[in-house]
Amino acid sequence: MTEVIFEKSAKGRRGVKFPEVGVQSKNLAEYISKDILREDKVELPELTELDAMRHFINLSQKNFSVDTVFYPLGSCTMKYNPKINEFIANLDGFVNIHPEQNEDQVQGALQLMYDLQEYLKQITGMNAVTLQPAAGAHGEFVGMLIVKKYFEKLGEKRTKVIIPDSAHGTNPATAKMCGFDVVEIKSNSKGMVDIEELKKALSSDVAALMMTNPNTLGLFEENILEISQAVHEAGALLYYDGANLNAIMGITNPALMGFDIVHVNLHKTFSTPHGGGGPGAGPVGVVERLASYLPAPIVGFNGTKYYLNYDLENTIGKVKAFYGNFGVLVRAYTYILMMGKKGLRKVSEDAVLNANYLKEQLKEHYNLPYDQICMHEFVLSGEKQKAQGVNTTGIAKRLMDFDIHPPTVYFPLIVHEAIMVEPTETESKETLDNFIDVMKRIATEIENEPTLVLESPLVTAASKVDETLAARQPNLRWNR
Ligand SMILES: *Cc1c(COP(=O)(O)O)cnc(C)c1O
Repeated sequence: MTEVIFEKSAKGRRGVKFPEVGVQSKNLAEYISKDILREDKVELPELTELDAMRHFINLSQKNFSVDTVFYPLGSCTMKYNPKINEFIANLDGFVNIHPEQNEDQVQGALQLMYDLQEYLKQITGMNAVTLQPAAGAHGEFVGMLIVKKYFEKLGEKRTKVIIPDSAHGTNPATAKMCGFDVVEIKSNSKGMVDIEELKKALSSDVAALMMTNPNTLGLFEENILEISQAVHEAGALLYYDGANLNAIMGITNPALMGFDIVHVNLHKTFSTPHGGGGPGAGPVGVVERLASYLPAPIVGFNGTKYYLNYDLENTIGKVKAFYGNFGVLVRAYTYILMMGKKGLRKVSEDAVLNANYLKEQLKEHYNLPYDQICMHEFVLSGEKQKAQGVNTTGIAKRLMDFDIHPPTVYFPLIVHEAIMVEPTETESKETLDNFIDVMKRIATEIENEPTLVLESPLVTAASKVDETLAARQPNLRWNR
């Protein structure tokens, strides 16, 4: 029985021993105004250092993480986070600075941000970049606010944003939050944007098309140039959801495809940690004519000094306290420097190769609705297995018994019983082969003994839970 930490508390126990204070102590109330002082004692667990250490290490080992197991999460790019990123981010000069320090004292930090802006400009082909947004969805929000203000300035009333039905859910949510009406267009039988549908939907009411390319089926939109031309002819802007650049880095970029605004997720493509709801970074790049709309400040360089540039004529304003999640920026910067230009291209090539290898090996055993060369990810369907009595959730849970984190499931919405696999470039052939073996084994189990799969996971700390109940009434105790 694992207890919550409060149940391990014993009155008076301490993890840290402070030395005697050498000065006369006074009551806090003499310094702090009474209306902001706590009335009751703060309730904290009282434990020794060893008890606290064991508690958290044991908890961490009940978790699946990219440091412990294969984590083929489609769309979310769970690649390995190199430990040198952590080492660099923990250097004194980065950890012990304050965002209110004046520019002269933090030239190194400003240079890092400036260089990162420049690298992201090269990688995306955009002309200006902000590092402020704290996540991918936050980047989309910035992008859509820019779209809105751009047309307001032009005096054009454009109320609609077009989004393909394969899009990530954050795209329509963001457009709606920014006050646009969302127009969904269907994919064609090859899983691509249906150009005829798109042309029908375009009009002088349309502000933007939001797209992911490769799309969430892992397919590269063959007609992207025709798409961008049509969108621009209608006077609208083209937004690129670049949460995952894993397939294209160093090979092509959104600017070459005709996009005007791009967000990237440093916490996916650029190897900074994510998944625990911790800090992320969703920088946004734009083409020249939108540069003055970016959130201020961006970091500038005048030939001798780095400085915070607030002089952006049409800025949508600030979107984050200070300058974004600086620690995440340091990690991504480290990763980009470690990989170099050739290394980033190799990342993409290997990510695509790994995904195609898995796809080819698995397509005999699971349905593959869009059977084409894929980019960094692909989407299987568990429909055959569902007909045999086990749905995709069952397959996902069973994988955990073999120390594999489930892939993304039930997304994208246009594939029934979707199983969306993204191996990333960081996995070895042995790891991929093991995944193939396990997936085949589960397919065979479903044919022969489906109840085994239905009862899984069997080896995890908590077995199958009622997900709705667990979300509403989380009970952190378990009995295994
Ligand atoms: C992850 C992801 C997002 C959202 O990014 P967050 O950092 O989770 O807000 C948007 N689009 C795509 C395609 C993604 O994979």
